[in-house]
Amino acid sequence: MPKIKRLRTRLMLVLIALLAAVLIAVFAAVLNTTGNSAERQAHQQLQVGANVLERLLALRARELANAAEILVADFGFRDAVASGDMPTLASALRNQAARIGADQALFLDTEGRVRVTSQGVVDGADDLDLQAMQPLPQGGMLAVLGGQPYLLVEALVHAPRLLGQVVLAFALDAELAADMRTLTGLEVSFITRQLDQVVDQVATLDDFAPASEADSEAMRVLAGEHYLTTRLVLLTEPPWTVYTELLSPLREALAIFDVLKRELWLIAVLALVISFIAAALLAGSLSRPVSELAAVARRIGSGDYRAQASLQRSDELGLLAQSIDQMRSGIAQREQQIQHNALHDPLTGLANLTRLHGRLDESLQARQQGVLVLLALAELDAIIRVHGQTAFEQAIIDLANNLQQGEARSELIAYQPGEGFFLLLEQESLAQAAVHADRALDLLSIELRMPDSKQRLTWLAGLVLWPQQGNSGDELLRRVRMAVSSARPGAERLAVYQSERDQAYQRRMQLIRDLPHAVRLDELTAVFQPKLCLTSGKVLAVEALMRWRHGRLGPIAPDEFIGLAEETGSIGLLTAWMLDAVMAQLQCWQAEGRDIEVAMNVSTRDLENADFPGRVRDALESYRVAPHCLSLEVTESALMRDPEGSIVNLRRLRELGVSLAVDDYGTGYSSLATLKSLPVQILKIDKSFVLNLAQSADDAVIVRSTIELAHNMKLQVVAEGIEDVASLNWLREHGCDIGQGYFISRPLPATELTEWLQAREAIVTQGP
Ligand code: C2E
Ligand code: MG
Ligand code: MG
Repeated sequence: MPKIKRLRTRLMLVLIALLAAVLIAVFAAVLNTTGNSAERQAHQQLQVGANVLERLLALRARELANAAEILVADFGFRDAVASGDMPTLASALRNQAARIGADQALFLDTEGRVRVTSQGVVDGADDLDLQAMQPLPQGGMLAVLGGQPYLLVEALVHAPRLLGQVVLAFALDAELAADMRTLTGLEVSFITRQLDQVVDQVATLDDFAPASEADSEAMRVLAGEHYLTTRLVLLTEPPWTVYTELLSPLREALAIFDVLKRELWLIAVLALVISFIAAALLAGSLSRPVSELAAVARRIGSGDYRAQASLQRSDELGLLAQSIDQMRSGIAQREQQIQHNALHDPLTGLANLTRLHGRLDESLQARQQGVLVLLALAELDAIIRVHGQTAFEQAIIDLANNLQQGEARSELIAYQPGEGFFLLLEQESLAQAAVHADRALDLLSIELRMPDSKQRLTWLAGLVLWPQQGNSGDELLRRVRMAVSSARPGAERLAVYQSERDQAYQRRMQLIRDLPHAVRLDELTAVFQPKLCLTSGKVLAVEALMRWRHGRLGPIAPDEFIGLAEETGSIGLLTAWMLDAVMAQLQCWQAEGRDIEVAMNVSTRDLENADFPGRVRDALESYRVAPHCLSLEVTESALMRDPEGSIVNLRRLRELGVSLAVDDYGTGYSSLATLKSLPVQILKIDKSFVLNLAQSADDAVIVRSTIELAHNMKLQVVAEGIEDVASLNWLREHGCDIGQGYFISRPLPATELTEWLQAREAIVTQGP
């Protein structure tokens, strides 16, 4: 059976099914009761019929008895009997029989032979053809004469002696049956049986067939009609039986209930129609609001929150509608909030990068033009470090308000933590935007109240123009970041994106990406530049310098990649590789019997790492290299960035027996006091002061005073960047201890350097 899905149809079906069940029950009860009642009535009728028949027979018997008495008392009759006047007797019998309606009148002699009948004188003087006879309780007898049932009475004829008897017989025939039917309204039959054989039968019904003797059922069907029957036995004298069967038609008894049934049908049909309509209305009144609510719920599900679920009812459905409505507005609010959060910065409430990105793309699609400005803090990390994150965030909130109030012309102001504020200036030229950005910088450069001081933050601005300088949101954002990275505090606080910088930036990005893989790809090599002792003329030390041959970009200068490695944290990898390379080379030279010191550059990051001295010690031990063969160079600027932080590691390295040098001296603005506190032994004067030493009087002054100062502090002085003999001589004359530079030798791969050293030793030994 298919499942009924609609609530309305189900409700209707249930209600109608209930009503139908009730009606069927009522019908069954009524039919049962009427059937029973009709049967009872028919039964009563049969009872009455039986009584009537008995009375009728009794009456007829009495009539016959009276008539017979009258006849035998008649003098003329007795005289005719006495005289044997048979014709007179026959006439008297005929008259009497005709008068009382007897079917037969007989005169029997004392021997019991029939002498005269109402039809005439019997010649043969036969016995009466009496087959069975039984007295009836009401008087008279029932007899079977010649196979037919009769009611008999007899009267003796005395004159004065017994002369014979008169018998009057009344046939139980069709006429009697018809009379009975008229009197009782029943169908009547008289049946005479000899054993199982029906010998005689009369019936008021044309199609009557007697039931078998054994079959005494009360209900019979004759010619399609139902009858209730009763059987009244009049005579039983085996093998003879006479009985009457009365049949009461049920149709008549039931007919009186037909009206009742018709009315009942009418009521049932009316009830069904009315209840169908009522069920439809009721089901509709329940299912319609449910459907409405379902439709509203569907719309909410699909994200449409405008549809209101308002049912004007005070029942549970009304309550449900109210709840759905509350749910709708709750979800709508929350979704709005989620949407807002997705597109706004939680700190300032300004648009976030996603929103800005979207707006840029929209504007580009609409073929608009404009300028994107990024306002970034010059020293973000330092401010957070000094004042703390909370104070910084509060400052950003204040600045965001300030910017919003003063920046009415901006299409969109966005904020991205870690980057700064973005202004979207549509329909503006670069010049207009520059003025605009400058004013925005002023708005941000207000004095802020920090927890322990007042501070004015330094902001920088980067600008990029679209569509000329980028045709996607991504590209514009990338380029505006590049622009701001090239801005500098002061006169250059505003920078417009320039595409060459973009290429440099791309190269930087590629180097940063590829640096961590350089070791694995075997792209690094070490070269060694000799250091000449200016007093002895011997080369007892070299500086190890790193070379990187990039797979695609070719040789990359250390000045380019070392800084990137320090910024991105890959420097640790490079230092470890270099330490290994230097140790291996030292071991090699030691094996050749060459006693030489190798200087290696380390970064400030290495000094910050507490494990670094341990690694150096392990390397010295595992390569069995004497610590005095290793020297470590740290640039002055790196040392000055965090002297206290570096000093612990420097001391531990010094304790290992490794010598330490301050590299690029003169570029890091170190104070004498700091220098003194560091455990260094060597000072390397930066090459910028040495390259033009012979020509520049200023450089000569600086170098001379540096040599003096270093010697006063008991430091050995190395000058790097010696490119000509004049500088070399000048340095020797002014007491510089060691020289390094292209004039002596360029940095060389280890094998070439060994050859160079051998060649040089040969000259020295051959020389004067
Ligand atoms: P640095 O330590 O001051 O090294 C000396 C630099 O001056 C070397 O440049 C060298 O080739 C160059 N030089 C030497 N003599 C002359 C000369 O007569 N004229 C000129 N114009 N230059 C001369 P390089 O090899 O390009 O290295 C640059 C810097 O990169 C180094 O300066 C050093 O700070 C850093 N560096 C190199 N290798 C490493 C390394 O393995 N680790 C670390 N942390 N830094 C390294
Ligand atoms: Mg160096
Ligand atoms: Mg240097």
